[in-house]
Amino acid sequence: MIDLHTHTTYSDGTDSPLALVKKAASSGVTVLGITDHDSTAGWSEAIDSIHGNLQLALGAEVSCLTEDGVSVHMLGLLFDSEDIALQQLLADSRDTRIPRMKKMIENLQGAGYEITLEDVAASTPPGATVGRPHLADALVAKKIVKSRDEAFTDLLNNDSPFYVSHFAPTPEDSIRAIRAAGGVAVIAHPFASRRGQTLSPASFASLVAAGLNGIEVFHRDQSEDERTQLIDIARTLNLVITGSSDYHGTGKLNQLGENVTAAAEWERLESMANQRRVVRK
Ligand code: AMP
Ligand code: ZN
Ligand code: FE
Ligand code: FE
Repeated sequence: MIDLHTHTTYSDGTDSPLALVKKAASSGVTVLGITDHDSTAGWSEAIDSIHGNLQLALGAEVSCLTEDGVSVHMLGLLFDSEDIALQQLLADSRDTRIPRMKKMIENLQGAGYEITLEDVAASTPPGATVGRPHLADALVAKKIVKSRDEAFTDLLNNDSPFYVSHFAPTPEDSIRAIRAAGGVAVIAHPFASRRGQTLSPASFASLVAAGLNGIEVFHRDQSEDERTQLIDIARTLNLVITGSSDYHGTGKLNQLGENVTAAAEWERLESMANQRRVVRK
């Protein structure tokens, strides 16, 4: 079972890298992608935790914004984690998430919600990329909402009056940075329409020109119809097709291995990195 997109406590997942690696090994995952939002901070713990036959495809999920303001998530896998330009791009994104969080909290306070930056800090694991899910957890701790899901539905979604965006590179810039660092770029859930506005089929040409390697087709937020359209685009543009769980521990319903990548697609994707960077014991 090849599952290339998961999150740990270094972003908005609830399992530590150690717990995730153990769970993956015992659930029959053979290749595990760890892709925390805008961060590689969980890699070393994951490498130290590896056991049995499990292989790791380490990466990050880069938050991007198109020039038209559409939110895009780009999975970078198998890149050199010491690449300075890519680490700077990730750091710029993480840094602007803090003033962004302050603004969202001010917006909520303005509407009478009793929530502070300290509450969010208490709900954010050490070293994690801070995001709306941590604000959601703080709202749950304060009994303002019952769950992360309710927090997003009622208060934190992209169309909410409390929402604030943070700095993000364009998808093309993030693809170029991932490829320059020797890795491969797979666009995450591009047609997940229930998250808000999505990319148009025509915009894939410019992503391919920037060096895109693959499309995440099998993902719980994409319908059968959306998957069919994406398979068509992937075949036309000769892109690798992936599937993954986007597991977040107890932070979301997604279960490890609920969507997977075919072995032949994974082999093709792996061969596109500039060296073999899969981690084995
Ligand atoms: P941010 O990066 O801070 O804008 O937060 C976006 C993250 O929130 C995404 O990575 C999602 O995994 C997470 N998210 C979005 N909607 C929900 C939801 N309904 N329940 C839990 N997590 C969500
Ligand atoms: Zn997430
Ligand atoms: Fe995502
Ligand atoms: Fe994700």
